[in-house]
Amino acid sequence: MEHAAFEAALVALLGADRVARNVPLARVTTFKVGGPADWLAEPKSADETVAALCVAHEAGVPVTVLGGGSNVLVGDRGIRGLVLRPRGGVARAADDGTVRADGSVTLNGLVRWTITHGLAGLEAWAGTPGTVGGAVCGNAHYGGRLIGELIERVLVTRPDGALCELPHGEMEFGYDCSRLQRTRELLLWAAFRLAPGADAAVLRAVARESLAHRKRTQPLDAPTAGCVFQNPGPDDDVPEGIPASAGALIDRAGLRGHRLGGARVSTVHANFIVNEGQATAADIGALADLCRNTVRERFGVLLCEEIVRLGEF
Ligand SMILES: Cc1cc2nc3c(=O)[nH]c(=O)nc-3n(C[C@H](O)[C@H](O)[C@H](O)COP(=O)(O)OP(=O)(O)OC[C@H]3O[C@@H](n4cnc5c(N)ncnc54)[C@H](O)[C@@H]3O)c2cc1C
Repeated sequence: MEHAAFEAALVALLGADRVARNVPLARVTTFKVGGPADWLAEPKSADETVAALCVAHEAGVPVTVLGGGSNVLVGDRGIRGLVLRPRGGVARAADDGTVRADGSVTLNGLVRWTITHGLAGLEAWAGTPGTVGGAVCGNAHYGGRLIGELIERVLVTRPDGALCELPHGEMEFGYDCSRLQRTRELLLWAAFRLAPGADAAVLRAVARESLAHRKRTQPLDAPTAGCVFQNPGPDDDVPEGIPASAGALIDRAGLRGHRLGGARVSTVHANFIVNEGQATAADIGALADLCRNTVRERFGVLLCEEIVRLGEF
């Protein structure tokens, strides 16, 4: 399929206002950096998402999915092919007692919904940016818990549009990972097993405490993508006297507050890199590289990135 025919098929499917050409992705990432997508399309339902995938598959156009853009570093030269950014969606009670949330629902929206319905389990995730799709793909964590622990099953679509329902056991959930990173399947919905009958006021208090903790410990007033690196695991030999956290290692390596171009290691939380306004993706990537290399040289610990680098740098 020619590029013009591909674009026309997408427009016929989604409408001209939800398909755009050469869109700078900085405006849809929380780092506020990233060059253009060849096409950016915003489906509003699972059916539209699957249909858009099929159009791209038939045309041989590569697809990248973006949720809230809160865990990615998109390169300055942007992303070739189609960036699909599912929007909207709902959370609802399913017949089997689970809560089924579309992949495009924001995690904060889902947390609010569960609190209102007296369902316990997700309240501590209040304040985590992004969508259910992004949270499942990276198995978001908070306070030592992984979101995958609450997921009973999911519906995904393969890159060719084939649907597949997967139970928890097939999701390959681990620290910061799931099978979606390996298969490039796109999450359409996730079914959460939560505890009913909870007091909404108690859940709200837990959510408020999470929000307050984030405000105290994270640079929330600047563009970031959350923690840049995963914390070291039990196999990493962290020197005695240093907490087993990426932020502590970067701090002890003397890099807290370090600047490179428009990017800076946060003075509030050394595992965050802040875009001070004029940063490029190259600045942020180079500063993350500097952190990783310095920590390895000083302490012999190899930090793995938690953020996902997408596109061309
Ligand atoms: C201030 C701040 C605080 C944060 N705190 C936390 C925290 O406490 N815990 C935590 O784990 N993270 C945290 N993060 C990181 C981020 O919010 C989470 O990782 C979030 O779950 C990412 O979701 P997203 O929709 O923004 O994903 P995106 O950044 O859009 O995408 C991330 C990855 O998921 C993939 N993806 C997105 N949607 C789908 C889908 N529907 N199907 C398949 N793959 C998909 C993308 O292709 C990409 O590879 C924080 C970020 C910020 C900015």
